[in-house]
Amino acid sequence: MAFISSGYNTEKPMENRITDIGPIKYDNFYPPVIAKNKGKWLYHEILEPGVLVHVAESGDEVYTVRVGGARLMSTGLIREISEIAEKHCDGHLRFTTRNNIEFMVDDKSKVEPLKKDLAGRKFPGGSFKFPIGGTGAGISNIVHTQGWIHCHTPATDASGTVKATMDEVFKDFQDMRLPAPLRISMACCLNMCGAVHCSDIAILGYHRKPPMLDHEYLDKICEIPLAISSCPTGAIKPAKVEWKGETVKSVAVNNERCMFCGNCYTMCPSMPLSDKTGDGIVLMAGGKVSNRISQPKFSKVVVAFLPNDMPRWPKMTETITRMVETYATDARKYERLGDWAERIGWERFFDKCEIEFTHHLIDDFRDPAYYTWRQSTQFKF
Ligand code: SF4
Ligand code: SF4
Repeated sequence: MAFISSGYNTEKPMENRITDIGPIKYDNFYPPVIAKNKGKWLYHEILEPGVLVHVAESGDEVYTVRVGGARLMSTGLIREISEIAEKHCDGHLRFTTRNNIEFMVDDKSKVEPLKKDLAGRKFPGGSFKFPIGGTGAGISNIVHTQGWIHCHTPATDASGTVKATMDEVFKDFQDMRLPAPLRISMACCLNMCGAVHCSDIAILGYHRKPPMLDHEYLDKICEIPLAISSCPTGAIKPAKVEWKGETVKSVAVNNERCMFCGNCYTMCPSMPLSDKTGDGIVLMAGGKVSNRISQPKFSKVVVAFLPNDMPRWPKMTETITRMVETYATDARKYERLGDWAERIGWERFFDKCEIEFTHHLIDDFRDPAYYTWRQSTQFKF
């Protein structure tokens, strides 16, 4: 009956049928030169940091100027991006997975005016609005998560830590002096909406205390079975608790089993776990998704905890800068950070980067270190 009342004709079931119910199809937005040469590209080159050329079989060329973007943008900035794309690129642009913006033109003569226009636009404080770079053997934009802007479980901020880090490594955004690409990622809790598990350097927000239990309201605002089943380690069980002379239904947490993931808080607002001293940052290193030289790898924890010293997180940025500089001078050409650490040995990685190796680093996320650190009598820590 519902079909009939909404106009569905059982005699002609395909009539007026709508199947394309997702976002509008991407090829509506191709720049003409890309539509014309789709699937027929011969090669591409990075002409200079931030500028690429793709050459098609037909001889057509596409020049791309890549600039750093941000994950959170005002409509004013987006309008300005659109205005640039309309002025130079016939109204076309694209965003990369790392929130870079790419402006594409179909003729070499259009590159310099575009670059000049982009480099000339600045924020009132003097910083580039559209810094050109982020290609090849340098540091591209940092992918990151929501942080204190609007997620409920972060152990640190996302935009703030990324801004502090990017300010320190910005010269490598506009340069390609490194042995290979170096990808930095950030996730503000271990649920990791960001790609921190497979980045050369990763910043991870980490809680160190189990959830607090608000027995007074827990049964009133949470579904206790849902809270229990949300825990990946089975650390939560139902409990009857004495509260202000009454027996109330609540939960108990086995703190030994808790890995401070915050899933229970997602399901039950009466189990918050944010804590001023308990929350902070873990640094990881050596992950990648590339197949070159070695298989893709997970990042390993290299700094177990750094406090949340906002607004600039100086200990975090110092450690990251040290890793970048040591990698830049010590690795061989084409070696990613993890390839370099494995070649010289992870002990040397810690020595050279002046990072203390502690017992907290023995396990990493997925497996006991037995499988992941190099195991032999030469392992000195
Ligand atoms: Fe929220 Fe965690 Fe994702 Fe950060 S990483 S946005 S805290 S779920
Ligand atoms: Fe379980 Fe995670 Fe909550 Fe700890 S924080 S009790 S591991 S759901």
